[in-house]
Amino acid sequence: MSKPDKTYRKRALGDHVLSPETMMMSYGFDPKLSEGSIKPPVFLTSTFAYASAEEGAAFFRVMGGRAQAGDPETAGLLYSRFNNPNMEVLEDRLTLFDKAEDAVVFSSGMSAISTAIMAHSKAGDVVLHSTPLYGGTETMIRNVLPNYAIAQVEFVAMAPEAEVKKAMEEALTQGRISVIMAESPTNPTNEIVDFALLVALADEIEQRQGHRPIIMIDNTFLGPIAQHPLEQGIDMVLYSLTKYVGGHSDLVAGAALGSDAVMAPVRKLRSAIGTNLDPHSCWMLLRSLETVKIRMEAAFNSARIVAEFLRDHPKVQKVRYLGFLEEGSRDHTLHTRQATMNGSTFAFDIKGGEDAAFRFQNALKVIKLAVSLGGTESLISHPGSTTHSGVDPLLRARLGFDPGMVRLSVGLENPQDIIADLNQALEHA
Ligand SMILES: *Cc1c(COP(=O)(O)O)cnc(C)c1O
Repeated sequence: MSKPDKTYRKRALGDHVLSPETMMMSYGFDPKLSEGSIKPPVFLTSTFAYASAEEGAAFFRVMGGRAQAGDPETAGLLYSRFNNPNMEVLEDRLTLFDKAEDAVVFSSGMSAISTAIMAHSKAGDVVLHSTPLYGGTETMIRNVLPNYAIAQVEFVAMAPEAEVKKAMEEALTQGRISVIMAESPTNPTNEIVDFALLVALADEIEQRQGHRPIIMIDNTFLGPIAQHPLEQGIDMVLYSLTKYVGGHSDLVAGAALGSDAVMAPVRKLRSAIGTNLDPHSCWMLLRSLETVKIRMEAAFNSARIVAEFLRDHPKVQKVRYLGFLEEGSRDHTLHTRQATMNGSTFAFDIKGGEDAAFRFQNALKVIKLAVSLGGTESLISHPGSTTHSGVDPLLRARLGFDPGMVRLSVGLENPQDIIADLNQALEHA
């Protein structure tokens, strides 16, 4: 989508470039179009009236890629499955942190991931992917895509380069590699996937099969504040906006970001199959975006304090916090190259296995027991018996899953209160 530089899309004051967090309060919304409203109204409408039959015809030509001389540059508002003012403002603002040309929002993280992969794949293709991925993504790639004759080949997130190359060779024998899909850091063990290696793979695959695969990174854990894969040669960034970006555990939404060329087929498929986001959730996300930077930074700062407490506790064995990666190790080198902060979701092992982990969880009084992450409230879960209970036991062993491993998402409570709660509950472990 072309983005004309109107006054409400101001990115700089003369030579002074505005920061994304500043633009979260203004970019992409013109109050003059809404009675001077400081905030965008919620446009709860399914359809939009056009001024004349001719204008309607022109909008549909532009939307359908059949523009004629004299047609407007972009299709106006038509129908809320295609576009809606709340959706457009949200998409404009989402481009800013990741410096993307285009952002497309979806009804969930899973609809973003599914629509993005489907838009770039056809029958006979292969998806090359890291594992573990988010459970829903694994299910989609392993169990759903094969029904449409799209195969998959995996490599373990922290596998050495030779092993990843072997997976690539295997994928090349199975068909055209359409997508390289990875998640980094991984959930819940915080392993790092090497972005530069993925770019090198895409280069080689392009040489050998004559088609460049689209590299997609699920950036839910550290983005859009602390990791910007598009600046590192990655083609598309995917988000569950349900997590840190939404940030209040009160909505489900997703997004895909990239260049205009990479996003065009994704936007088109979203319009066709209707995986779009509703105007009310878009409005809620605009509110969330005004505070996303300070919320994520506050949670990330608290997480270090909490992680340090856990590391020193006699009933805790291993704290998989990104800030504790060993200097000079593979993961530390990659993490410091690819990201600027250490996040606030990490796993740690309670001594005594699953029984001890369950006793500990049941004794918590402030931290709530739930899956999901990135909200204002701290949440804890036991991946082995919940989100990751379906993961192959051999893979779980390789990833270093311990029966006593729990995952904590540190929220915005006072970190000393979180520590007090953990401390009293560990007495019961
Ligand atoms: C939650 C999550 C998803 C799925 O997002 P939904 O909004 O629940 O559909 C995808 N990837 C990661 C890393 C997630 O944490």
